[in-house]
Amino acid sequence: MNEPRATILVTGGAGYIGSHTALALKERGYRPIVLDNLSRGHREIVEDKLAIPFIEGDTRDHALLDALFARERIAAVMHFAAFMEVGESVAHPLRFYDNNVYGTVTLLEAMAKAGVDKFVFSSTAATYGEPRTTPIPEDHPQAPINPYGRSKLMVEQLLADCDRAHGLRSVIFRYFNAAGAHPSVAIGEHHEPETHLLPLILHAALGLRPAIRVFGADYPTPDGTCIRDYIHVCDLADAHVLGLEYLLAGRESAAFNLGSGRGFSVKEVIEAARRVSGRDIPVETAPRRAGDPPVLVGSSDKARRVLGWKPRYEDLDTIVGHAWAWHAR
Ligand code: UDP
Repeated sequence: MNEPRATILVTGGAGYIGSHTALALKERGYRPIVLDNLSRGHREIVEDKLAIPFIEGDTRDHALLDALFARERIAAVMHFAAFMEVGESVAHPLRFYDNNVYGTVTLLEAMAKAGVDKFVFSSTAATYGEPRTTPIPEDHPQAPINPYGRSKLMVEQLLADCDRAHGLRSVIFRYFNAAGAHPSVAIGEHHEPETHLLPLILHAALGLRPAIRVFGADYPTPDGTCIRDYIHVCDLADAHVLGLEYLLAGRESAAFNLGSGRGFSVKEVIEAARRVSGRDIPVETAPRRAGDPPVLVGSSDKARRVLGWKPRYEDLDTIVGHAWAWHAR
């Protein structure tokens, strides 16, 4: 076998999108090292399922980061470690600013000391706030409506400052709704507590909960339920590898949306899950969830054009099918 390519530090690599990206890096011959404090991630998926080097630790731990950067020749950092649940961010904003913002500041400080100047950042469509146009392009105004989105936007802004001040080059990815699982069923989506639509629908299909609660059936959309842009987690992971290669090629900092460009309603996702699983899925209509815009769909033309990104799993039934295979395993 050839020598592995560059060593890439993947923070939050024991989580959903981070673990799929660590695997994509490994599949492309890179040497990922995962750093995760296990507050939300799962150690066994990194060490046992993926056989990727794992360090238990926190991005706010100066000493740990300095030692890590001194020990390893790290070519770039991919930063996924963050809290991501909007409701939690409203209830506990300081937790989010501490982990998501301060945790990035310490990481960037350690990188600057070690002379590492390439950074791939996990941001979110939540930085746009209420959409004024759809599909949302990257130059849409960023006016987040909750602390989660604000914590991610603050990091985007401090990355721009670090670029100007000391040449830190970053690729920012603003995700729409990540969904699905690796087709090998080695890894998938598992949050505790679970708040995301597709895992909850599949839990209802498996009888692990009595029904899926649809948050609002009176939105101004064709079937009254919210429309979101679902993108396969492996396609997100592929985009991260392309973003890394863009930086390794010496290109300048840039931000990209990652979505499919198409929207599906909550009811359409439930229908897809019924088709794919062949199970009965009981549905209850519940009140709207605070802060949910009726439609959230992004344009990812820039990622396709600049990075040459081509999603492999665009069909909703394929995305739902991979998630179902993992949940039902
Ligand atoms: N949703 C729902 N029932 C649930 C969870 C989510 O109807 O139990 C809806 C939610 O209101 C939103 C969509 O499903 O319109 C996607 O929500 P999710 O939390 O998965 O992702 P978000 O869009 O908040 O990032």
